[in-house]
Amino acid sequence: MIDCAYCERPLLCDGCGTPFVPSSPEEYQALSWRDTPIRCPGCGMLLVCRWCKSPYDGRDGQPEGEDGDPTS
Ligand SMILES: [Zn+2]
Ligand SMILES: [Zn+2]
Repeated sequence: MIDCAYCERPLLCDGCGTPFVPSSPEEYQALSWRDTPIRCPGCGMLLVCRWCKSPYDGRDGQPEGEDGDPTS
């Protein structure tokens, strides 16, 4: 089990609840750098943190603007 890079809680898939475990050092590094899209090994969807809802879509730090700010 590893922690979410954003909220530092145990990283679970928002879709299926599967704990994300990197299958390789490369995947672990991609996760920590947040510059490569990560897919859930359980459901195959783009990995989204269950707690903070941060998507691991390879785009770091775009809190607003771009596509989809659901609050405005
Ligand atoms: Zn999180
Ligand atoms: Zn999943």
